[in-house]
Amino acid sequence: MIRISAWAAAIKPSATLAAGALARQLKAAGINVYDFSLGEPDFNTPEHICAAAAAAARQGQTHYTPTSGTAEVKNAICTWYQRFHGYAIEPGQVIVSNGAKHSIHNALAATVGPGDEVIIPTPYWVSYSDLVQMTGARAVLVETRPETGFKLTPEQLRAALSPRTRLLMLNSPCNPTGTVYTRAELEKLVDTLLEHSDAAILSDEIYEQLIYGSAQPTCVATLRPELRERTITVSGASKSYAMTGWRMGWAIAPPAVVQAMDAIQSQETSCPSSISQAALVAALTGPQDCVVQMRDEFAARRELTCRLLRQIPGIRLHEPQGAFYAFFDVSSYFGRRFGQDTVTDSVSFCKALLMQAHVNLVPGIAFGAEGYVRMSFATSRSVIETGLARLAEWLQTGV
Ligand code: PMP
Ligand code: GLU
Repeated sequence: MIRISAWAAAIKPSATLAAGALARQLKAAGINVYDFSLGEPDFNTPEHICAAAAAAARQGQTHYTPTSGTAEVKNAICTWYQRFHGYAIEPGQVIVSNGAKHSIHNALAATVGPGDEVIIPTPYWVSYSDLVQMTGARAVLVETRPETGFKLTPEQLRAALSPRTRLLMLNSPCNPTGTVYTRAELEKLVDTLLEHSDAAILSDEIYEQLIYGSAQPTCVATLRPELRERTITVSGASKSYAMTGWRMGWAIAPPAVVQAMDAIQSQETSCPSSISQAALVAALTGPQDCVVQMRDEFAARRELTCRLLRQIPGIRLHEPQGAFYAFFDVSSYFGRRFGQDTVTDSVSFCKALLMQAHVNLVPGIAFGAEGYVRMSFATSRSVIETGLARLAEWLQTGV
């Protein structure tokens, strides 16, 4: 028998990927599942991006690239930040990885370890705490509440800082809550950090192009001049360009951090995929109307989702301003019996809902928030309509 290492044994599989896999299994068994689990656009990658990748493959861009990415892709990222955020960066501050999840992993591995603390506001994206744990550092979870729009306050940050704090992880727009901090709110947070600590910020901005209504994206690194040296900005192509399968994420960081991440990546994966990098260049430098079209459709789905959820008694919805998730409180149903199952928490709620009504949501506990569930609305309006009607009907069966 091969022994599993203590390190591996301590890692939980990603709850979102596990929920997606369970739905796939049921679908393979012929069950019609209303699957709202995975945060993944249902659109295929726009044609001009696929064409650029196919051309790159045919033209022989089939070799290893520099570990941190090709000159073309890094230039494309620099130009995009200048245009989108007015953030002037050099290629030496950029490293491309196999998805933003990989960028976050490498950024953490390069900057924290045993004895260090990383502050993570809850609810947080499912992988943050495990990725921190994998480095040996300690995740310091700070609970944010619906009453404050699920936003970390400067007072909470001040109280969580310690001499061991090395990083604050921020995620705006946020997965799972859809919260988008205003520029002024972020300024107050970063000023608190700069005043009371020498910790850095890891700002995950992967949903920056998926913002609705009057909310605005903010690139945290641009808020104060000192932050250039103190911020690791992470983003990627998965969400805005419907490119989840291409695995393209990147980090922008001070050159010393990029070099450390480069060394890690050189031993881990050599480089990101050459074909995917060519696709990313086309995504960032090509026409952007595909992003606008997809965002408009997500905006319509968000309206529909929120309208339908508000009609269901006992559900408390936090209206998302960005990303493509509805995060809602279902705790008023805890303690009720549905068929043979008594629902006591977000895990038993999601399990009974999936098995009995074939509607798949992700338990809030996976995001550090018991009492809630997450629904991805990155799926068609008809699936949203039917799935939420089934949810409403099923909830009425609880006694
Ligand atoms: N950050 C957040 C907040 C996410 O929701 C995701 C979703 N997968 C990622 C990072 C990672 O995305 P990817 O690895 O596909 O680039
Ligand atoms: N980020 C997406 C989600 O939260 C994709 C799944 C994952 O990477 O864990 O559902």
